[in-house]
Amino acid sequence: MQTITSVSEMQSLAERLRIQGQRIGLVPTMGALHEGHLSLVKLAKEKSDVVVVTIFVNPTQFGPSEDFTKYPRVLEADLAACEAAGVDYVFAPEVEEIYPKGYSTFVIEEHIAKPLEGASRPAHFRGVTTVVAKLFNIARPHVAIFGQKDAQQVAVITKMAADLNFDVEIVVAPTLREPDGLAMSSRNRYLTNTQRVEALVINRALRKAVEMVASGECRVDRLIAEATHLIGQHRRVRIIYVSVVDRLTMEAIKGEITPGRAVMAIAVWVDEVRLIDNEIL
Ligand code: AMP
Repeated sequence: MQTITSVSEMQSLAERLRIQGQRIGLVPTMGALHEGHLSLVKLAKEKSDVVVVTIFVNPTQFGPSEDFTKYPRVLEADLAACEAAGVDYVFAPEVEEIYPKGYSTFVIEEHIAKPLEGASRPAHFRGVTTVVAKLFNIARPHVAIFGQKDAQQVAVITKMAADLNFDVEIVVAPTLREPDGLAMSSRNRYLTNTQRVEALVINRALRKAVEMVASGECRVDRLIAEATHLIGQHRRVRIIYVSVVDRLTMEAIKGEITPGRAVMAIAVWVDEVRLIDNEIL
């Protein structure tokens, strides 16, 4: 495995690989890798010849009062995990390499990015689409893997890739969970044991919604009311949103869902830790 930090070096490598006829699989991450990330690597290995993992804590997707500076950075451990997972190249640039002084161009998806995360983190998706567009131009992947854990991110990136004619196949990997149901996340390491126990209600609320749909309850207000009620019983957990949206457009569904097309998306604060999760209904 080789670690690359320069944009031009990554671009030349991608060019060489393409000339050799190798299919490049990209897994963009912010590091602090867990099994969820490694499941994306596994999928990338199945779908491509050469796997590139990017590790970059992207400053433009964090708001001014968010956790950019305290976001976990454990590059040595991440490199070891990538090596063990059979990654071929890690692209881990410094911030100045991606955003040199005077940087001023951004990519904005104007519709799908608006609700949910977009409403509570206004500049978030502008940062995500910008960095992902840049990574597509730098690593020139044939296929890029993203996790369903970030359902809106998947929808926004899929739309951006189509709208901007990126010749990249977007593959979505299922959410990996801890045995107790908590969705794996780099931010879980912020949780104390008590907070972690409280956080389990997110998955319980989502599972309840899945069960309700399985037993024939398709009314959105009922699904949301039940999830909100369950979460409301936990003092430390504050709801940012509990929404049922179309899985492609992220538009709120009114009335009844069509099973398979809807997502229940939840964002909460557990004290000062912000967590998101979702399930396809
Ligand atoms: P992050 O490092 O949080 O930006 O995540 C990098 C990629 O890993 C994104 O595509 C995420 O959706 C995905 N990811 C994060 N957590 C999980 C998980 N628990 N299961 C599957 N994919 C995940």
